[in-house]
Formats: sequence, structure tokens, C-alpha cells
Amino acid sequence: MTAVTPTNFDFHCHSIVSDGLLPPAEVAKRAAGNGVDWWALTDHDDIGGLDEARGAAEAAGMRFVNGVEISIEWREIPIHIVGLGFDHRNPALVNGLDELRLGRIERARRMGDALAAIGIPGVFEGAMCFVTNPSLVSRAHFARYLVSIGIARDVPSVFQHYLTPGKPGYVDHRWATLADAVRWINGAGGVAVVAHPGRYKLSGQDMRRFLEEFKDLGGRGIEVTSGSHSPDHVMHFARLARHYEFHASRGSDFHGPDESYVDLGKVPQLPEDLKPVWRLVA
Ligand code: AMP
Ligand code: MN
Ligand code: MN
Ligand code: MN
Repeated sequence: MTAVTPTNFDFHCHSIVSDGLLPPAEVAKRAAGNGVDWWALTDHDDIGGLDEARGAAEAAGMRFVNGVEISIEWREIPIHIVGLGFDHRNPALVNGLDELRLGRIERARRMGDALAAIGIPGVFEGAMCFVTNPSLVSRAHFARYLVSIGIARDVPSVFQHYLTPGKPGYVDHRWATLADAVRWINGAGGVAVVAHPGRYKLSGQDMRRFLEEFKDLGGRGIEVTSGSHSPDHVMHFARLARHYEFHASRGSDFHGPDESYVDLGKVPQLPEDLKPVWRLVA
């Protein structure tokens, strides 16, 4: 058994550089105020907030590690890979993410067209008014706009009725591949971590296949405690972390004060026998 240092690390959250609601420095202050002592900002497909985040984290007395949450698809299923502790000036990583973001705009236009086809016009333009980084439009921005015009009462119900697979505003999209994401992260000296594995619609067998492929490609970590995990998920993914000898990560996936179920640093601690991922980025 390896003891886990009693650190309150939170290695998954978002700022206005993607679909979070606070600027990086404000996320840093809130994390520090909640007792986080080691923090990563992990915006979707964009690393433009890291310099601001690091400055604010260090000013607030936290250790900081570079982070990103990369959108990939595996067997046509959208999956997120968190990268930690990489060099954020690495050209292959920077260029790969630039290209990934370009695809988002085109996808957003198709989402707008799909919603227009069911009688809700102007949603692309409306969603763009909620975007805080012109190169990073996400379904969260669509959801916020649709709530603002009274289509549904809150963000989760917009997702449930309009923005998830099989629903009218959901469109297929070619994201990065698993191999791309792991290569970009490892090539920049970082650690690749499977984000919130409990959220994916994968059978037990497909999850194991996915984790084997991830490991073969050089992936080293998995989120065990997460803002989107139930206690059953924690037990299940702790078992898989042991089985595959992955390091375990912990992250709130905080997006904003009114939109997140779990606040920064308020995630359960990892089961004590797991190898915490901060050891790989120390
Ligand atoms: P995208 O990367 O554009 O597909 O958007 C994914 C983002 O939408 C996630 O990172 C969350 O911010 C948000 N999201 C996804 N599913 C839900 C949900 N069921 N309820 C609320 N927000 C969600
Ligand atoms: Mn998000
Ligand atoms: Mn995610
Ligand atoms: Mn996230």
C-alpha cells in the first residue's frame, strides 16, 4: 500500500478559454479559496489560458500544472483525454489543437442548421453570443443560448432534449483520434489521462478494449474521482486503475458557480492504495 499525501489536488476544470464561466485567474482564486493546493486548468482543446492560470495559481500559493482536455472519438464515440504537465509551447501539440478547434466552428454551423430544420432558427448566431473564446464553441454555449430564449428551463434539460446523440441538435463530428491525443501529450512531455470514464456509453468489454489501446499508445492515467462520478463509478474505475496499473487522477470538472454540481477541490479523495497522478508531474 502506498499512502496518498493528504493533498487537495484538482486536475480538471474549465475557464472562459473554453466553456467555463470564469476567467482563468478567477478560477485560480476560487480553487485556492476552496483549499486546493495543487491545481490544473484543463480547458477543452485550448491551452491559451495556462499562462494566466499559472501566474494566478502561484500568487495564491498553489502548485500549478499545465492541463488540457482533448476531444477525441474512439469507434465513433466521443471521449475526452486530459493532458497534464506538458510543454504548452510544443509545436505539434499547439498545431494539433489549432486544427481541432477549427472543426468546432463547422460543427457548430451544422448544429445550427439541424435546429433550424426543427423550427428553431438563428441558434448558431445566438450561441456565438455566449462564446467567450471565438475559436472555441461548445455545446455548452448552445445550451446557454437555448435556455436564454426559453426553449428549456436549464442547461441539463437542453442537453437531454436537444443536444445528445439521437436528439435534433446533435450532429456527428470527426474529432481527433486517441492516437493523436496521446502522441501530442506525450510528445510534449506530458501525461495522458482518461477523463471521467463513467460518462461514456461503452460496454464493459469496450471499456476494457479502449483502456488497453490507451495504455498501448502510452496513456498513463485515469480519473477515478470526478465531479461526474457516482460512488459506484469510483469503485469500478479504481479497480480498473489497479488492473491496468494506471495512475489515478481527481478532478471536479468545474465550469462555473451555477452550472457545476461539484465545486473546485470538493471531489472525494482517491482510494488510498492508488498511485496518484501528481507523482508523474511533480
Ligand atoms: P462539446 O465539447 O462541444 O461536445 O461540449 C461538451 C460540453 O458540454 C461538456 O464539456 C460540458 O460542458 C457540457 N455538457 C455535456 N453534457 C452535458 C449535460 N448532460 N449537462 C450539462 N452540460 C453538459
Ligand atoms: Mn465543458
Ligand atoms: Mn469532458
Ligand atoms: Mn471537462
